[in-house]
Amino acid sequence: MNNTPIKKIRSVFTVKNKSFLTPHFIRVVFDIREDQLPLLSEVTSGSNNKIFIPPKGVKLIYFPERGREINSELVAKVRTYTNRSIDLEKRELTIDFVVHGENGPASAWAINAQAGDCLGIGMKQSHKPILPNLESYLLVGDATAVPVISAILEQLAVGVTAKVFLEVTEKSDELMLCSAASVDIRWLYNPEPERGSLLSHCIKQFQMNNPAQNNFVFVAAEYSTVKDLKVFFRVQLGWDPDFISTTTYWKSGASEEATVEKQQGTL
Ligand SMILES: Cc1cc2nc3c(=O)[nH]c(=O)nc-3n(C[C@H](O)[C@H](O)[C@H](O)COP(=O)(O)OP(=O)(O)OC[C@H]3O[C@@H](n4cnc5c(N)ncnc54)[C@H](O)[C@@H]3O)c2cc1C
Repeated sequence: MNNTPIKKIRSVFTVKNKSFLTPHFIRVVFDIREDQLPLLSEVTSGSNNKIFIPPKGVKLIYFPERGREINSELVAKVRTYTNRSIDLEKRELTIDFVVHGENGPASAWAINAQAGDCLGIGMKQSHKPILPNLESYLLVGDATAVPVISAILEQLAVGVTAKVFLEVTEKSDELMLCSAASVDIRWLYNPEPERGSLLSHCIKQFQMNNPAQNNFVFVAAEYSTVKDLKVFFRVQLGWDPDFISTTTYWKSGASEEATVEKQQGTL
């Protein structure tokens, strides 16, 4: 067993460019400086991170630290995102943000971000694959999980199969996803994700293969969907929890402080 502690990285990154991939997805590409390359070479695309967002008008990143008093008007807000891709050759780190308005610091930051802006980003060094290596996958996510599911699909091998359910705001938010695996994607559209999701209902209608130990279920979405599907797979279907991963990515009506922080730990 490898008992080497996982190294955590915190660094300040500069925006290289920003673009709207679709009406509700903003892609922000950060420059990886020479001195950040060794740190990033140990991080997997698709892993999650913590972003540290400076308050409006504050140019420096004041990382919150236990035991260190920092003026609350300066300290960065922490949110969880996905390292959509890490390209060491181009020296680019990419994060895709769902645009849900200026009601949250992360979404607001992405909407207003410009080349040259800074963001603190924390990650874990690990080459562990995002999901275990198996023969087939059921991947379920709302818009916030499109980045991680895109990265998972890119990492699946030839001969593997994946059935994917993704819910986005509207048809024009569909993205082109690449994979060597045999992938069947069903897109669902939901203009008001804060008011509920179609995912649970849709998954329950779907005829699923018996989960022989070669099938893995991954669910990442809003709290109510995750809670519902966790019960569905584990209790109603009685599937082996070792082959099911369910993670709340956000909670309607609550900021991240109030929801996922406790699940992820601090990076
Ligand atoms: C492991 C992990 C990986 C994630 N990866 C990504 C990612 O790559 N891209 C991404 O966009 N998100 C991702 N998320 C989700 C993201 O962290 C949350 O959506 C987060 O709440 C956004 O922070 P905020 O500051 O914009 O809003 P907050 O301040 O947290 O919330 C403010 C208000 O906005 C609402 N809200 C938050 N998110 C949404 C949303 N998506 N749609 C509608 N209303 C919302 C809240 O319910 C609240 O009422 C990930 C979450 C986790 C746990």
